[in-house]
Amino acid sequence: MSQALNHAVENQELALALQPQVDTQQQVIGFEALLRWQHPKFGSVSPSRFIAIAEASGSIVEIGDWVLQQCCEKLVQWQQTGRKSLTISVNVSSVQFRRGDFLSRVQHILEHTGANPNHLRFELTESLIADDIDFIVAQMEALRALGLSISLDDFGTGYASLAYLTQLPLDELKIDRAFVNDLDKHSKGELLTETIISLGRSMNLAVIAEGVETQEQFKRLQAMGCEYFQGYLFGKPRIEPDEF
Ligand code: C2E
Ligand code: MG
Ligand code: MG
Ligand code: MG
Repeated sequence: MSQALNHAVENQELALALQPQVDTQQQVIGFEALLRWQHPKFGSVSPSRFIAIAEASGSIVEIGDWVLQQCCEKLVQWQQTGRKSLTISVNVSSVQFRRGDFLSRVQHILEHTGANPNHLRFELTESLIADDIDFIVAQMEALRALGLSISLDDFGTGYASLAYLTQLPLDELKIDRAFVNDLDKHSKGELLTETIISLGRSMNLAVIAEGVETQEQFKRLQAMGCEYFQGYLFGKPRIEPDEF
């Protein structure tokens, strides 16, 4: 699988699915780009499996460039067809992010495509925040200086301490699906979700919940003050979304 991933870009086996993100009025405000891999022998492989393999071999760098390039092209296309206000959230692996040349790769793709960085958001995870916090912060600041915004994905599932969190130049917190899923069960998910939302608000960050599947979850998240939502309730990830 590792070998096959080295050739996934050139063999045109990758595709991007887009999943809508909505506001409290259920208006689509943007999309998250989610990678899909269809291999002739392995069939369709889930990103939760193959991303780790691509990270281990290093092919995530080329794959990540491809993802960003596609998203930028989509933004330009939307710009030209009048859907100017939509944003795309792109998952960025810590293997990509930690590289010294990451910034220049991003810059190159932005220049090459002509995409507006104000409509691009990078989703990073807490796994990034391991040791070199100064470098991570500088890298994030440089990206934001280009006009991009930054979201902390799967928030609450990692091991980042609150002290680290307050140092990061973030724009958004993304509540993990596991907490949203727990909302129905009247368990700890409720307390954690409420805590994340108020934390986000006090830090002046946007808060988005992922994995919203039921009306009840949607209502409770709204009552807690969550402003943005993503999940099957509003739309599944689709390769060619047209009606929005
Ligand atoms: P993630 O970034 O946390 O993405 C959210 C995952 O939740 C996606 O799984 C999405 O399809 C799924 N999801 C969304 N709404 C619902 C819902 O209502 N219910 C349920 N049960 N699931 C929902 P997916 O597409 O399988 O992606 C898994 C993970 O793979 C992503 O988690 C992300 O960490 C990684 N990934 C995907 N695309 C990329 C990429 O282009 N680059 C990198 N580095 N990682 C990616
Ligand atoms: Mg994500
Ligand atoms: Mg997530
Ligand atoms: Mg997740």
